[in-house]
Amino acid sequence: MLLSQCTWPEVEAYLKTSKGIVMPIGSIEQHGPNGLMGTDAICAEAIARGVGEAASALVGPTIAVGMAVHHMAFPGSMTLKPSTLIAVIRDYVTALAAHGFERFLFVNGHGGNVATLRAAFYEIYAERRERHGDAAPDLRCHFVNWWENAAVAALSRDLFGSAEGSHATPSEVSVTQHLHPEAIKEAAMEPHVAPSGTFFDARDFRRRYPDGRIGSAPSLARPEHGARLMEAAVQAISVQYRTFVTAE
Ligand SMILES: [Zn+2]
Repeated sequence: MLLSQCTWPEVEAYLKTSKGIVMPIGSIEQHGPNGLMGTDAICAEAIARGVGEAASALVGPTIAVGMAVHHMAFPGSMTLKPSTLIAVIRDYVTALAAHGFERFLFVNGHGGNVATLRAAFYEIYAERRERHGDAAPDLRCHFVNWWENAAVAALSRDLFGSAEGSHATPSEVSVTQHLHPEAIKEAAMEPHVAPSGTFFDARDFRRRYPDGRIGSAPSLARPEHGARLMEAAVQAISVQYRTFVTAE
């Protein structure tokens, strides 16, 4: 169930049965020579929708642009500053909390959002405490990175081994190929597996990783692998969602 496709009486009825909501958050940024700019937003949204179906949960609007300042040396990449993204997350949560939502599970598609998600949750808690003290209504925010669960990790390892890497991974590219077969791209990549390591700012990122990949071989991506990875992610995160929503 998508919030954007519900009427207000439907949302009112839902809130009588559940206070939980699934919130997709992604990024619009370069994903190497064959990966789509929207990879992280596309994966997070589709997996969140799958969780919504599997767990009968409402799914909020996708926060499509994330914190990706380190990708800005590649054309097309977009970013919100951490402070802007904190404000966006806070306002999304605060708006929905005003109607009675209490448990927010963010399905995250982008590692670069992690620090900002954590900061945003503390910003929300701090603001509510300032305003209401101990009387603040119950509110819990949590995020899961869709690739960080035992089922997806095991499947990625089986399919791609150490060529999974950490950016523009064959797993995430496979998921987008499954969802958008019309947008599958071919590109030559040299070396087959990209170098891995760390980076500082955007210019340093491009200097170290000239085609945008880190440690990965996304030419191994296949739509059929994406279908399996997506199913594994939906199953695992549906269990996490149910536990999160029903926990004391
Ligand atoms: Zn990504």
